[in-house]
Amino acid sequence: GVQTCALPIFLLGPGPSLISPRVMRALAAPMLSHLDPQFVEIMDDVRARLVRVFQAPEGSFAFGVLGTGTSAMETAIANTVAPGTRVVSVVTGYFGDRLAQMAMRYGAEVTRVEAQWGRAVDPTLVKQALASSGASIVTIVHAETSTGVLNPVQAVAALAREHDALTIVDAVTSLGGMPLDVAAWGLDVVYSCSQKCLGAPSGLSPIVFTPRALQRKEPCRSFYFDLALLEDYWVRRKYHHTMSSTLVYALDEALAMIEEEGLEARWARHEQNHRLFIDGLQSLGLGVLPPDGERLWTLNTVKVPEGIVEADVRKVLLNEFSIEVGAGLGPLAGKIWRVGLMGTSSAPRLVTLLLGTFKVALERQSYRVPA
Ligand code: PLP
Repeated sequence: GVQTCALPIFLLGPGPSLISPRVMRALAAPMLSHLDPQFVEIMDDVRARLVRVFQAPEGSFAFGVLGTGTSAMETAIANTVAPGTRVVSVVTGYFGDRLAQMAMRYGAEVTRVEAQWGRAVDPTLVKQALASSGASIVTIVHAETSTGVLNPVQAVAALAREHDALTIVDAVTSLGGMPLDVAAWGLDVVYSCSQKCLGAPSGLSPIVFTPRALQRKEPCRSFYFDLALLEDYWVRRKYHHTMSSTLVYALDEALAMIEEEGLEARWARHEQNHRLFIDGLQSLGLGVLPPDGERLWTLNTVKVPEGIVEADVRKVLLNEFSIEVGAGLGPLAGKIWRVGLMGTSSAPRLVTLLLGTFKVALERQSYRVPA
């Protein structure tokens, strides 16, 4: 089994992020069964909190899919895509591509709108694709974890509305860390995960369907992800699967902490710690991949300097300082480190600790910090 060591690993990668002692205590609460009267009240609490944290319009159905972020992604697609549905998929990195692939598996005719890895999508390309394809759905990743890029979701959703299309948004690396307003931005289906900016363990993924999306639900070919069956369980208490009470307690506590902090204050904290990190990187002579204005506050993609072996830096951080940062994916493997400052992991002292240890690890490889 896992050795319980005196020091936890400081989780500063692309997720999972650190969990607060409050959420850890919630994880230790006694087990309740999935239809216990006390337990279903906690589920109602989670649903209500999620509607507020998503800032979803009245009549929305928000809940948690028992699975990781990918299971919420699949729930979004499986209930909106039918064979032959025309979909415009914005692909600006690894997770945009995953959404496009998933839509294809459910029978969609997908038109991909791409951007170079490290840049946000140009909304005029989405407009052209909507006009030429006649698509009824647009999929887009708000915070692309593979590149550290923020996509212009609000502008894209406005274009989708003009074409009477639904907008499905991946907010896995943004919910609870960056501004997101489902009602004001006119989004239709939005999902996230529990292990990043929300500060809970992975395994119970928030999702919301607005009334507009609920009206346009397609028959679902998956049993586990069928929205009608999931609603029967979450709302009408009809057995569908054996919910993990432990994960529900943890998400409920994490959401309570978000509401106590306040959404705006929480976003501001993520922005401040991101800026602190960027300033510190600059003084080490390091830069990030996306241009200013397209950068996430939650996930920073740091460019590996010439001559530095990327994996060796991560090894020093992990083995000597108990700090985890992530590697690059796909075409960015070996070229970037992915540094997550999300939820409990978004804290000034962790930024300071990371910058200091980054310097040590780089100097081991004879890196010269600019004067
Ligand atoms: N979407 C984005 C943007 C992600 O960053 C991730 C995971 O990092 C996922 C989807 C998939 O989430 P999970 O790994 O929890 O299934």
